[in-house]
This record gives sequence, C-alpha cells and structure tokens, in this order.
Amino acid sequence: MSPSPTVAVPFADLHAQYLGIRDAIDAAIAEVIRTSAFIRGPFVTRFEEQFAEVVGIPHCVSCANGTDSLYIAMRALGVNPGDEVLAPAHTWISTTETITQAGAKVVFCDTDPDTFTIDPAQVAAKLTPRTVGVVPVHLYGQPADMDPIMDLARRHGLWVLEDCAQAHLATYKGRQVGSFGNAASYSFYPGKNLGAMGDAGAIVTHDADLARRMAMFARHGGITKGDHQIEGINSRLDGLQAAVLSVKLPHLAGWTARRREIAAEYGRLLAGIPGLTLPQVATAREPVWHLYVVQHEQRDALAAHLASRGIQTVINYPVALPFLPAYAHHGHRSADFPVAFHHQSRILSLPIFPEITLEQMRIVAAAIAEFADLSPGRN
Ligand SMILES: *Cc1c(COP(=O)(O)O)cnc(C)c1O
Repeated sequence: MSPSPTVAVPFADLHAQYLGIRDAIDAAIAEVIRTSAFIRGPFVTRFEEQFAEVVGIPHCVSCANGTDSLYIAMRALGVNPGDEVLAPAHTWISTTETITQAGAKVVFCDTDPDTFTIDPAQVAAKLTPRTVGVVPVHLYGQPADMDPIMDLARRHGLWVLEDCAQAHLATYKGRQVGSFGNAASYSFYPGKNLGAMGDAGAIVTHDADLARRMAMFARHGGITKGDHQIEGINSRLDGLQAAVLSVKLPHLAGWTARRREIAAEYGRLLAGIPGLTLPQVATAREPVWHLYVVQHEQRDALAAHLASRGIQTVINYPVALPFLPAYAHHGHRSADFPVAFHHQSRILSLPIFPEITLEQMRIVAAAIAEFADLSPGRN
C-alpha cells in the first residue's frame, strides 16, 4: 500500500469549529464539573428550552442520541404487532431499525430521483390497511416533500415522525422542518449540523401529551423519580453535552448560512464538469447542506482519484437499506427500488463544513475537473 497522502481537504473539521468557540466551550464544561450537574439538572433543562425555541416547537424532550429519539417517539406514538410504518429506502439505518424495535414492520418506499428524499407517490402506493405511520427523512439536509405526505397522512389517519437528524433549521415552503409531523427527531452526533462532543439527541412536538409520554418512556417510565407508570428505558442527554450544545446553538444559524454559501460556491466551481451531476434543490425548499452529494457514473474511480489528492470523501450510503443483509428477509430486488439502486453506486459526498476555505473548495473542484479530463471517454 502506498502511504496515505497528507490531508489537503478533510471531509469535516470538528477541531476548527472548536477553536472558534474554545473559551465558551471550556467555560461551559468547567461549570458543569464545578456544579456536578452531570445527569438531568439545569443545563439539560436550559438546552431543551433553547432548542424548542430555535425550532419554534413548544415541547422538547432530550435523550441520549438520535437513534433513541426515533425509538422513543415511536414507542410513545404507539405501534402494535403487524402495524406497518413507511420509510425511505435510502437513509441511515437508524430510521428503520427503530421501526422494527418499536414493534412494527418496515415498509420501504423508493426515493425521489432529484432530492434523494422519500417519493410521496411511493408512499401512496405502499399504503395498506395496516399502515399506521410514515417517517420521512430530510436527507442530506434537504426537506422531504411534506405537503403530499401530510395530505396522505390526514386522509388515512397516519402519524408522521420527521427524521430531522441531518436537517436542523431547513425549511419547506418557508416553514421549518420538524413542525409538520406529530413529532420530529434530532441527532446531535458530533458531525451533525448541530453537534455535541459525544452522543446526544432530542424529540420535539406540538403535542403536550405526546411530549409527556416520550419523557416518561425515556426516563424509566416515570416523570417523577420512583413513580413508574410503565416500563421505559434509560435514555438521557447528559449535562456536559447539554452545556456544549447550549454554547453551539446560537452559532447554528450562522453555520447554516455558511453551509448555504459553500453549496452555492461548489455549484459555481463544479458547473459544467462532464459526467458530474450536482445536487438539485426542489422549489420552495431551503436545504441546510449537511452533506453535499454529487453523482458520477465512475464514482469509485473518482473517489480514489480525490483520495490520491488528499481529499476525503464519504458515501452516504453505499447500499440502500432493502439491499442490506439486515433486510434480506424482505426478499427485495434492485428493480423494487430503481431510484435508490441507481443512486447507491453513483453518490459521493464532498467535504463540507462551515470552516472550509475557498482555497480548499478550489482544490476539490480542480481535482474533479482533472479526473474528468483524465477519463474523457468515461462520460
Ligand atoms: C445521524 C442520523 C440518525 C441517528 O442519530 P445518532 O445520534 O447517530 O443516533 C438518524 N437518522 C439519520 C438520517 C441520521 O443521519
């Protein structure tokens, strides 16, 4: 193996973000330690209130990670054996493993060719009398097409749980994601647009009773210590993570604006490169660019070329869920999900993070253009 080249452009740079807010982060962590407020307590309550305000939804229940937020929401929404829940075929597996764990059956829907999000026509096509809910994912930071999804949900009495793990502050027709469904789940995994320094997650909802049931389930089935109404789980946001998130939250709007500038700049730098498909934004949707995903017929060769130039890329996600061993028992074939199948071999996520420099973006664009020149016949 040849030695790995020095990294010219990392995929993400969490340390750069830390350096920009170091004093505030260090002080916040020191304060949690000074007061020993590790579990529950004022830092967690404050972050829940602040996050609810920023997303404009009244109730926020924090928890240990984004995967738990999906699970907790579905347990509180309530599913019974045999119930079916619709989810996109191409997303991170948290979205669907939690459907199974909550006790329902996952029913995959193919994705939209341009936005990578769940195709509402597929949602309509996959409805059965046993369908109880749908989990749209605002993948890569672009909102799913919520109007037709909410319309179907209303007509068929389904609940809607929005997976907002990649879409903090994204808007659809001027309205924030997370505000459409019965509940919305968020991840604060370090690399997410709002990231903790460890695992963290939250669920938001307009429904006070649902919020109470979610909080109860996440806290061993009791809101008040010792008073267990049901059996629950232990899924807590800890004080250190809450304090870190409270320092970062006021920066989220600025970081999001920066991601939008970066996406626009990539659009200019990469325009017209033969064989490269740039991400498409549907009308009236304002993505937050958690990922900047291009497509290329020779994706693996392109990724290897970029790696040889010290540019890190990621594939989100290399195998669509129905084709994974975990779902082999569904017996799906590639023809069942042609769009997700087409995407999985073509998608490539380029470096994007608020601190990326114009120089770094130019290095990425030049290397992609160089690849196109080296392989003109490869389209
Ligand atoms: C990150 C992510 C999750 C899960 O979040 P964790 O905090 O890693 O558990 C769920 N859904 C999607 C789409 C994600 O990207």
